Amino acid sequence: MENLLGYTREMLEDYFILMGEKKYKATQVFEWLYRHNEYNINNFSNIKKDIINKLKSDFTTEFIKIEKVLEGQDVKKFLFRLLDGEKIEAVLMEHNYGLSVCVSSQVGCNMGCRFCESGRLKKVRNLETFEIVQQILLIQEYINKRIDSVVVMGIGEPFDNYDNIVRFIKIINDAKGLAIGARHITVSTCGLVPKIDEFSNLDLQVNLALSLHAARDSVRNRIMPVNKVYNIDTVIAAIKRYIAKTNRRVTIEYVMLNMVNDTLEDAQALVNLIKGMNVYVNLIPYNETKNIEFSKSSKERINKFYEYLTTSGINVTVRREFGGNIKAACGQLRSESD
Ligand code: SAH
Repeated sequence: MENLLGYTREMLEDYFILMGEKKYKATQVFEWLYRHNEYNINNFSNIKKDIINKLKSDFTTEFIKIEKVLEGQDVKKFLFRLLDGEKIEAVLMEHNYGLSVCVSSQVGCNMGCRFCESGRLKKVRNLETFEIVQQILLIQEYINKRIDSVVVMGIGEPFDNYDNIVRFIKIINDAKGLAIGARHITVSTCGLVPKIDEFSNLDLQVNLALSLHAARDSVRNRIMPVNKVYNIDTVIAAIKRYIAKTNRRVTIEYVMLNMVNDTLEDAQALVNLIKGMNVYVNLIPYNETKNIEFSKSSKERINKFYEYLTTSGINVTVRREFGGNIKAACGQLRSESD
């Protein structure tokens, strides 16, 4: 049986039309789910009994469960238990501009980035659409507040679960769904080129972030195996096509790894690579994990890198650090709960 919370309004409209019903029924269902938070199909009181019965025979509204919450200042980390027993996590962050949630897209990840905790567990499976939607619904219910923005930057590579991510975006962006503005939704990829191209055709003003992390192939090959499939030139060419097509600014993520990718040479290579492009660089202080191979760049090294980029005319910010003390680094909570 399908989970009702994984259906876009469009899919539900098709479902009702196929049944010989009016498509506005889909809007009614959406209002029950996302406006009234009513998940018991029996209680959809403006819908006829025979349709209720049909809905009940085709869909469940079963929920994943919050297994554990770690609370820090400005940040809460949620560990979820899925219906098949698998575990994933999401993070709630309180910014001065509102509440944002970072959701997971897969159980495990196959991209194998050397510095990333999530990749220590190989991909077990993709998350279903409803499992991504429910991360947000459960967090909203837990804090009894609305989420303002969403980043798909938790466990997993979203473009390796493309169709479910697009469905997820449509549901949370829908005015009758969670009504989160497209500009408040960001998808982050390690650089799966064909999907970047596909994403540029999506008719939604969603933000794209690229985890670049190095501007020289010799360095990127060492820390991100995906670079051997889509190297820096290839992925930057795709980002250029994306910008040309969508006219939107892309975020370049750059995690600062001590003595690995934070030298002056790296900064110069980065400037040469992206100069003139409509991008901004987000320098991410490395969240240290048990992985001893990498350590975080010092504040001084980050500042130097930052200054070099700024004086070269690149837009750059340093990401605020969240939750280091509550194991909020990507994949850490999950990997320590085994
Ligand atoms: N697979 C996607 C999204 C998930 S990772 C991607 O690669 O973009 C989200 C971001 O966190 C990526 O930029 C990733 O490289 C970064 N990241 C992973 N481990 C980290 C750590 N320990 N500290 C800081 N950033 C990390």
